[in-house]
Amino acid sequence: MERLVRNSRVISFPIVVSGPSGVGKTTLCHGLIQKDSKLAFSISATTRQARSTEEHGKDYFFISKEEFERMKANTEFAEWAPVHGELYGTPKTWLDGQLAQGISILLDIDVQGGVRIMDVYPEAVSIFVVPPSFRVLEERLRNRKSETEKAVRQRLKNALEEMEYITRYSYIVANDVVNEAVAKMEHIVRSERYKRERILKGITWKEYLGVEGKGV
Ligand code: 5GP
Repeated sequence: MERLVRNSRVISFPIVVSGPSGVGKTTLCHGLIQKDSKLAFSISATTRQARSTEEHGKDYFFISKEEFERMKANTEFAEWAPVHGELYGTPKTWLDGQLAQGISILLDIDVQGGVRIMDVYPEAVSIFVVPPSFRVLEERLRNRKSETEKAVRQRLKNALEEMEYITRYSYIVANDVVNEAVAKMEHIVRSERYKRERILKGITWKEYLGVEGKGV
């Protein structure tokens, strides 16, 4: 009888979560992290002002335009994009370090950045979060009360443009009831971990199962 040793493989991937502003991506990402110890949240750098509820180093790294430009020039971002008139970027070293340790990373980023990550990391999983209806999205943006009327209108206009990118994403999750939407994302991530192309990436099933020699 030959020894069968299951090869312990690192299976991790970036998980791009995009969707129109106000749809609840951030809430869903944080809900998902609570349920899965092999997940972490990517903290972006941004030039926008912190909202009263936000903390530097927890929600975002709030940095100056000069600092952002310096990081950009040093290729410190896995992707970056201008969104709603401000700059946003994903720090690359942390992302790659976590992936190498087997932690999958949730990226709450806009569609431009999402597409860029999918190009650079073909193994990425992509989820597009949609509201139950456009009317609901408008209500949510207004209820958030963190933006001026002008900014709300700008975000709604952008939302229509962002929706056009939906065809680049693999999964669609409607955010009606938060817990249910989180559960849907949990299913997606768990199923992705069992994909044959991830498990047998660069190895044969024999290597995976530790089969030595010709037969059992
Ligand atoms: P907010 O200012 O409301 O937190 O975010 C505005 C938009 O910027 C959201 O769609 C959010 O997903 C996106 N965003 C946040 N961080 C990043 C990032 O690092 N890169 C890109 N491309 N978009 C981001």
